[in-house]
Amino acid sequence: MLVVLTGPSGTGKSSLLERCFAADPRLALSVSHTTRPPRAGERDGVDYHFIDDAHFDALVAADAFAEWAHVHTRRYGTTHAEIARLVAAGRDPVFDIDVVGADNLQRAYPDCLRVFLLPPSLAILEARLRGRGTESEEMIATRLSNARGEIAHAHRFDYLVVNTSLDSAAQTLTAIIRAERRRVARLPDLPARLLAGEEIA
Ligand code: ADP
Ligand code: 5GP
Repeated sequence: MLVVLTGPSGTGKSSLLERCFAADPRLALSVSHTTRPPRAGERDGVDYHFIDDAHFDALVAADAFAEWAHVHTRRYGTTHAEIARLVAAGRDPVFDIDVVGADNLQRAYPDCLRVFLLPPSLAILEARLRGRGTESEEMIATRLSNARGEIAHAHRFDYLVVNTSLDSAAQTLTAIIRAERRRVARLPDLPARLLAGEEIA
């Protein structure tokens, strides 16, 4: 199962996913490529693959991306190879990507689960973005003005989670993912396997 998490910058997507990964070891972050520089503490190959524009151009030309987009003045993308790597390892890939990426990924994988993370208020969103202390004033303004446009697309997603407390948001997202895994469409042969004498779970 592919899980897409989208929401404005500063809503708490990375913080929330850290908790979900600790709670559910089958989930694994799809590590994107980006042309933005690393923040203090970010690790190449773990948080992102940090690459320059020429390298990004080469990946686009080689058709390496399942989706990519311009976000907040930089480029970000998910490679086919990253998805294949996680699926081959038996993991459920989780994508922390923007609205454009979420739409493109849904075109490629129509049964992906799409969750939009909302802040409790726009004032709290701004406080979180500032409080993180990673962006210039200009970048904070860009990200906040893009937030309104992103939230206008939230109704097209499958689920809305509000990040009031990280504990409750993580419980909600984990519950959504667990329930989605039990959809009949994702387990079409389970009853037949039971009837064939297999012990199922
Ligand atoms: P995103 O990945 O969506 O850009 P982050 O996970 O980096 O957002 O979170 C932005 C900031 O808000 C971080 O400083 C984080 O510690 C803080 N934060 C995230 N969720 C909460 C929450 N529920 N309550 C208070 N602060 C939060
Ligand atoms: P940040 O610079 O704060 O890490 O991320 C900025 C925005 O880019 C976030 O909305 C994040 O979800 C999005 N993003 C990160 N990786 C990708 C990706 O691979 N593709 C797309 N389309 N968006 C991404």
